[in-house]
Amino acid sequence: MSVHKYIAKVMKTTMESTPGQTEFYQAVEEVLSTLEPILKAEPKYDQYNILERIVIPERQILFRVTWMDDANKIQTNIGYRVQFNSAIGPYKGGLRFHQNVNLGIIKFLGFEQIFKNSLTGLAIGGGKGGSNFNPKGKSDGEIMRFCQSFMIELSKHIGETRDVPAGDIGVGGREIGYMFGEYKRVTGNFEGILTGKGINWGGSLTRTEATGFGSVYFAENILNKQNDSLKDKVATVSGSGNVAIYTIQKLYDMNAKPVTCSDSRGMIYDKNGINLDTLKLIKEIQRSSLEEYILIHKDATYLPIHKYPQGANAVWAVPCDIAFPSATQNELNLKDMKNLYKNGCKLVCEGANMPTTPEAIEFMLEKKMLFGPAKAANAGGVATSQLEMSQNASMQKWSFAEVDGKLRKIMKSIFDLSYETSKEFEHEGNLMIGANIAGFKKVADSMIDQGAV
Ligand code: NDP
Repeated sequence: MSVHKYIAKVMKTTMESTPGQTEFYQAVEEVLSTLEPILKAEPKYDQYNILERIVIPERQILFRVTWMDDANKIQTNIGYRVQFNSAIGPYKGGLRFHQNVNLGIIKFLGFEQIFKNSLTGLAIGGGKGGSNFNPKGKSDGEIMRFCQSFMIELSKHIGETRDVPAGDIGVGGREIGYMFGEYKRVTGNFEGILTGKGINWGGSLTRTEATGFGSVYFAENILNKQNDSLKDKVATVSGSGNVAIYTIQKLYDMNAKPVTCSDSRGMIYDKNGINLDTLKLIKEIQRSSLEEYILIHKDATYLPIHKYPQGANAVWAVPCDIAFPSATQNELNLKDMKNLYKNGCKLVCEGANMPTTPEAIEFMLEKKMLFGPAKAANAGGVATSQLEMSQNASMQKWSFAEVDGKLRKIMKSIFDLSYETSKEFEHEGNLMIGANIAGFKKVADSMIDQGAV
């Protein structure tokens, strides 16, 4: 069977056997379509049914989460943990609490995580989980009771050598704390079963900053290859959560100027550069809307989401040299990419998972814009999570500078591996192809070594 037909057959079976999982199909299609060169060169992957196997999670757990709200009413949500692939190590991947979460979204994220984790060069498999719980507007007590109930079930399925979840959208230090506390209460064990823990109880310095910092390091590597750098570049950033905030912070360290940020209600444009202290105050401490930014910074403008131009994201209409989509999936479409291109943007570096639609990616590559794909560019978070696991296992504590140094090296090695692989398979500079093939190869070869499992 030709490689093209092999991929089409796996795509068709996936769609027929798991109906309605749109985002998951998008993620699978994106990976499989870039594997053609290696599948052609290595027929063993077809022979060992690797594609058929790799698109099916080893295990998916779906559970009921009941909790009491402040009015003493019982509330119900659905919890998920998809343990996708453990060929190269224990499952690792975040938990997302957001009202849109469904099995298809968790599967897309878990599938991507397999290749991302492989690319880091560390021994971690791929998984993802979460719930359709909406943390917005909930009291601290409600968040705690939800997290405790969620962990009572999750605790049966995780473990230091089995599955180590972390944060994602809607899950930060506070939620990890409540879940860790509950795990300890249920099992009686103080174990490194989550990453993103507090510094006083097993967390790693730099873990909070790692995804954003890593994304900026990755962009710097791409530019360095072109004999360029981030210095004096204008950047647009979307989102205002964990990834966006530390992308903005690191951009300043690299002498670039981030001029936008956004949340689910609107966006800020500040031509003077986003004020990091104000952003942290609003989002990390007050947990409120970005609209408040313009009360302090009169030169900045706020555009609510209902005033965005039809079918486009206003963040990507702001002229920039580099764009860092760092909020959520499919937040940068073809129209947005055309806006970026028209305004002279030369690089899109993905902090979020799958933020760019397939049509936008196609246009960007056609126009020879530079691209830092999520699997490589945002791998700094999970890589640092693994560093947290190493510190837990060896009972050591490394300094901020030590972890940051390791993170920087890992991002450079991910870039080098992706670049070299793109070259080896005759698509030099196409980091999407390079990252997907390099991530796939290690996992697929390990699956072959381990037999029919
Ligand atoms: P956070 O919850 O900290 O922040 C998410 C941000 O995105 C918030 O500003 C939120 O707005 C905004 N947002 C969420 N949904 C939408 C939407 N539909 N439209 C517009 N804005 C939206 O999450 P993270 O920063 O941790 O995650 C951001 C992205 O990065 C996700 O794709 C995640 O999977 C990815 N990622 C995260 C890693 C990590 O270590 N945290 C690691 C690798 C990838 P609001 O404030 O209004 O909620």
